[in-house]
Amino acid sequence: MQTNNSKSKLTLLVGLAMTLALASCAKRKEAVAPADLVVTANGAIYTLDAAKPWVEAVAIADGRYVFVGSRAEAQAFVGPKTQQIEAGDAMVMPGLVDAHVHPLMGGIKALYECNFAFTATPEQVAAALQACAEKTPEGTWIKGGQWGSSFFEQNKLDSPRGFLDRITTRHPIFLNDDSGHNGWVNSEALRIAGINGKTANPEGGTIVKGADKEPNGVLLETAARLFDTVIPSWTDEQYVKAAREATRIANSYGITGIKDAGAFDLATKAFHSLDQTGDLTLHVAACIRTPYGRRTGPLDFDAIEAERKAYRSKHVQTDYVKLFVDGVPTPARTAAMIHPYLADKAHGDHFTGGDMHIDAQQLAADVTELDKRGITVKMHTAGDRSVRAALDAIDAARKANGNSGLRHELAHAGYIDPADIPRFAKLDAVAEFCPILWYPSPIIEAVISAVGEERGRHYWPTRTLLDNKARISTGSDWPAAVPDQNPWGGIEALVTRRDPLGVAPGELWKEEAITLEEALRLYTVNGAEALRLEQQTGSIAVGKSADLIVLDRHLFKIPVEDVGATQVRKTVFEGKVVFDAQSGKE
Ligand SMILES: [Zn+2]
Repeated sequence: MQTNNSKSKLTLLVGLAMTLALASCAKRKEAVAPADLVVTANGAIYTLDAAKPWVEAVAIADGRYVFVGSRAEAQAFVGPKTQQIEAGDAMVMPGLVDAHVHPLMGGIKALYECNFAFTATPEQVAAALQACAEKTPEGTWIKGGQWGSSFFEQNKLDSPRGFLDRITTRHPIFLNDDSGHNGWVNSEALRIAGINGKTANPEGGTIVKGADKEPNGVLLETAARLFDTVIPSWTDEQYVKAAREATRIANSYGITGIKDAGAFDLATKAFHSLDQTGDLTLHVAACIRTPYGRRTGPLDFDAIEAERKAYRSKHVQTDYVKLFVDGVPTPARTAAMIHPYLADKAHGDHFTGGDMHIDAQQLAADVTELDKRGITVKMHTAGDRSVRAALDAIDAARKANGNSGLRHELAHAGYIDPADIPRFAKLDAVAEFCPILWYPSPIIEAVISAVGEERGRHYWPTRTLLDNKARISTGSDWPAAVPDQNPWGGIEALVTRRDPLGVAPGELWKEEAITLEEALRLYTVNGAEALRLEQQTGSIAVGKSADLIVLDRHLFKIPVEDVGATQVRKTVFEGKVVFDAQSGKE
């Protein structure tokens, strides 16, 4: 009996244990389906999630993180079909966001334009154009650039137009400057546009004249825009190719989200098309572009709403609008400043940048209406006077609509009057920092030549803004102002305030340096906020979109001067490898 009893007890126990084991096995199987991708690193996965800042492994299924934690636990997610990436001692982190870029123009530039460096000498410009003219059919436009902001100060050409005419009179030429605001053309281009010595300057622009009273070939601000309708536009097919190229370029730098800071209709359409075919491997926020130049009447809200509805898709968000409030604080002196620019012949000694593109009252009405419609506004505000007007406009919107939760942005807000700094946090306004120029460079020198040493060297107050709890977002502005979209030099320079290439000497307002942690946060978490995707991306956490990058180094274990040279080994977007340095695009 006893034996039997024991035996039956034992049987019972074994049975129970087996049942339990089976149950736990079944349960385990249910909870831990094999992942599509498991990424491991030696404790070097930087999540930007305060709950677990550094981890060893992540598991990804259906484009989302299903596990974030230790290497040992991640093994449970490895099945026969699971792809595995081992980063070793190199760092893994969320994909970056470029919150101000002109991606279609960048793609077009890369694929179809005649390019030379901002620092090119007249001889280098001539050589580049000569080569382009030789392979361009006669009569076809040669478009390209970009000449540096102080090109014509540094190089005294008797006639900029004549300089281009000596290269070709058989092609019309239009060349952008590094700000994207100003143009340089030859006689053939002026002839086609019907511009001559008698043509009046458009409002907000100048057709620069030579001693002979004829246009000398340089077109400032809205005068350059006279060519927008004259130069034949690219085809839809070329635009889609450019969107594809822009996506490839962004992914190659570790960028998985972008904000098109001035998305013209066909640009958004191109990204939308790419999204329809499943080829868009970026989160795109398109700021619907409004006309550049002086405006007195209200915005065309019907046109904005039509564009907003037409091109929205899975990865293309269209609830954004771009407004231009002023120009640039370079020798063109078109940014609206509170205090006068340095005196010069053309502008006298009390010049503060002239009228803003929109009067303060109209701007407030625009922002209030857009805010009411659920649209986030990005305002181009390069001078402290336009920054103040933009903050006043957001204030008006908050008073009229309450806090909509929309974080309106002040683009290029490098000059902010100290009195306005605390207003950013109060109004939940974003100081958007771009282009990547918070270090000494030829463009900073050009700005100094217009605003003076003292103001010129106190540019981009990052530390002060963060200390005042202001939100900052960052972007490249490529292809304006910077030679490429590479964000890593900008990240380094936020910490060093020195030229990441080591060419321009010295530091730019080093008291405004921020830490590497802070800089990476601006490019990830804050970037996701700029896309209104902070719940979906910007950090590594279970449930979020698996947008991550594998670097070739560990940013926290190297001298900060080496951050700018970072190369991205792999970019993962929604759980799929979309860039692999070894094989090019997957
Ligand atoms: Zn821009």
